[in-house]
Amino acid sequence: LAGAFLDRIAASELNAFIDVQPELTLAQAREADARRARGERGPLLGIPVAHKDIFVTRGWRSTAGSRMLEHYVSPFDAAVVERLAVAGAVCLGKTNCDEFAMGGANENSFFGPVRNPWDRSAIAGGSSGGAAAAVAAGLAPLATGTDTGGSVRQPAAMCGITGVKPTYGRVSRHGMIAFASSLDQGGAMARSAEDCAALLTAMAGFDPRDSTSVDQPAEDFSRDLDRPLDGLRIGVPREFMGEGLADDVRAAVERGLDALRGLGASIVDISLPKTELAIPAYYVIAPAEASSNLSRFDGVRYGHRAAQYADLNDMYRRTRAEGFGAEVKRRILIGTYVLSHGYYDAYYLQAQKLRRLIADDFRAAFGSVDLIAGPVSPTVAWNLGERTDDPVRNYLADVYTLPASLAGLPGLSMPAGFGEHGRPVGLQLVGRWFEEARLLNVAHRFQ
Ligand code: GLN
Repeated sequence: LAGAFLDRIAASELNAFIDVQPELTLAQAREADARRARGERGPLLGIPVAHKDIFVTRGWRSTAGSRMLEHYVSPFDAAVVERLAVAGAVCLGKTNCDEFAMGGANENSFFGPVRNPWDRSAIAGGSSGGAAAAVAAGLAPLATGTDTGGSVRQPAAMCGITGVKPTYGRVSRHGMIAFASSLDQGGAMARSAEDCAALLTAMAGFDPRDSTSVDQPAEDFSRDLDRPLDGLRIGVPREFMGEGLADDVRAAVERGLDALRGLGASIVDISLPKTELAIPAYYVIAPAEASSNLSRFDGVRYGHRAAQYADLNDMYRRTRAEGFGAEVKRRILIGTYVLSHGYYDAYYLQAQKLRRLIADDFRAAFGSVDLIAGPVSPTVAWNLGERTDDPVRNYLADVYTLPASLAGLPGLSMPAGFGEHGRPVGLQLVGRWFEEARLLNVAHRFQ
């Protein structure tokens, strides 16, 4: 099985992978065979999985899509990588992503953009674009992703697969290269909700090495897959269906909601009045945390170091100037600014207050509905190169994924047909805290 996927990866031209090491993969596959021969069983034993290149791995390079870590090999495995190996999964390699997961088109990768398998002139979405394209093109049956503000859900939507971002704290961040630590969360990507459930079950669980890991008993996310949807109340926020949503996406989402109604759910009009504040809040908080997290890339401890420099400060300056791409530098500048003396209260503190209000919106909505549904992205995948010089336009496209991220809620994207140019549309589900099994149940019935 691993060999067959490695052949497909070698023949593919999507640029979905940053590092592939066939000998290592095949050695892991043989080990899984040996475990099976000894009588071991398990849903992931011998099943190949591709890891987003944000999770550090021994053996494969761990680049975070950055020149800064172009040749970096980690001395340890991320918790997610370790857990999947224990479950018997076989690592296929490392998937392409936006640099340090900053982006929504996979065009901020030092290793070049990923092509969308449905239409090679389109973006795959981001930042987990390589993961989504790999699963959609059949280069990997399962892939890990990370979602800080939509990076599992949005590329899943644009590539027509299923992606689930669990409640913040479910999946250990140990060994996940940090972007914005209060938002970063590992997630599962696959062609079906059933496969996502199996992958997430193996990925999630308490880890004392991550101080924000939630100490809850392990859960089987597959347990409710077949539960009927009768009587389920699904809220559709009117702020998600109004101005800014493209007609083709709206039509596909409405067809999806009809199908859910046909399965026994009732669709209820609700309001999340603070939705429009999610973008400004996120684009203050995430860069603030990023500017702090990325200070560790100083040319001393990890990865790239400038070849020539006059003194220590010059070494820092040149290393960071050479190692980081434009979007990462933009965010470090914004983050440093909003945290600086005299601006902290005006920006960072205000953004934290907005974050609380956004979570309160959800709390109120979940008093009357069981889950929330809407679009993932305002449009289908756009053309490669179309928006590369317009960062603000890229930020605005995150409007429907950021609220759940800021509130720490679980979110899922499931395929809901096609829009313009035959490009996939995703339908988003957002659940109460720790109710990812419910989201997977709805997505399974929907498929
Ligand atoms: N598109 C968002 C950003 O650029 C989200 C990225 C993510 O979830 N990693 O920050």
